[in-house]
Amino acid sequence: MSNTPKIQDDSVAAPVAVRAAWLADGSGACFAPGVLVLRGRTVVAAGSPESVGVPGGSVTWVDASDSAVMPALVNAHTHLDLTLVPRIPEPEHFFQWLGGVRSARLSMTADDVRQSVIAGVQRLDAGGVAAVGDIAGTHALQASLAACADLGLEGCVFEEVFGMGPRVPACLAAMEAVPPAAAGHARGIRRGAQPHAPYSSDRRVFEAALRSGVPVSTHLAESVDERRFLADGSGPFRELLESFGLWDGTFSAGARHPIDWMAERLRAASMGPAGRQTRVLCAHLNDVDDQALALLATLPIDVAYCPRASEFFGHTGHRYRAMRAAGVNVCLGTDSALNLDTPDRISTVDDLRLLMRRDQLPLTDALEMATVAGARALGLDPSRWDFSLSPVAGVIAVALGEYRAPAEFGKTSTAPRWICRPAVS
Ligand SMILES: [Zn+2]
Repeated sequence: MSNTPKIQDDSVAAPVAVRAAWLADGSGACFAPGVLVLRGRTVVAAGSPESVGVPGGSVTWVDASDSAVMPALVNAHTHLDLTLVPRIPEPEHFFQWLGGVRSARLSMTADDVRQSVIAGVQRLDAGGVAAVGDIAGTHALQASLAACADLGLEGCVFEEVFGMGPRVPACLAAMEAVPPAAAGHARGIRRGAQPHAPYSSDRRVFEAALRSGVPVSTHLAESVDERRFLADGSGPFRELLESFGLWDGTFSAGARHPIDWMAERLRAASMGPAGRQTRVLCAHLNDVDDQALALLATLPIDVAYCPRASEFFGHTGHRYRAMRAAGVNVCLGTDSALNLDTPDRISTVDDLRLLMRRDQLPLTDALEMATVAGARALGLDPSRWDFSLSPVAGVIAVALGEYRAPAEFGKTSTAPRWICRPAVS
């Protein structure tokens, strides 16, 4: 199928009809077999062959009858700058792994980082991803904004800060220096802020980020060690901060759970003359009890669940389905290439398939998490990430092999290919 025509030109007036083994999106549509008709980048029909009929005029047919056809994907949480970092041996503890990543980062030059980011963007493209939430470490912000824009990727590059202890004043000053206008789109990709995590960035840094007017993301409730640290300031994260010289005693503990801690940051950021009601995109939430789940459902938090990364670190029993049932917007991310089993791509299609295979999650639920939920979390128009009769961000096909039924999609492992690429403006 490598000779499949690629639809790239918005000026093409004649319709293109894609014949699929099945056609599905995250809004609940699923047709097996299916036909998708595009005029330029706009969906003009999507359904069964009978319901769509034969499009009039000089239609061009694309045969994807051996494949699933779906909207382009969203990867709401990844770290492109770690793409070319040598794989870190599986750690005994998460905080050991963090130390390994920190050492690797310190040895990277600005050009190493840029090359890593470019490789990461290419792997998103190889995975059928058209929108990203990228966490950019040192030297990576501008490289990522440029590399994403070059491939037409939308979404947000969140600049990561480790603002703890003696670093707090400098972090606060840096955040104040970034005007909200900096959050504006650079050809579809925005700039945001990512205080790394509650155990590595002070509450004052979080509150400044939430007040800044730029999109905010973080890692939250990743492990029980985080809960312990926020409760009483003890445990492996305290030791890690001490070893990095980032513990100066100004940290204030006392939160019941990381979600309670974040609720307090959101409340504080919304108070006062500079107060601002904002949302925060939180990755992971592996450690969520009933009380935290009930609170989460009341907060302006989008959740980026990274199933393969979660498994890599040994977490089980993620409560993403209970979160969704409670009305929380849960999307999918991959975390970095260091945690993935797909060296040639960084794609939520593989996380989507894991959820279908492992949890018997229905296809359209998994697709919703990998497309429209991610778009909502990144502030994008969700209608461009489904097959409603309107412009679409992109269209991909995935060869099915022997697993032809939609419910068997989790058993496939092929890479996506583009039917309609993101527009590069
Ligand atoms: Zn991450």
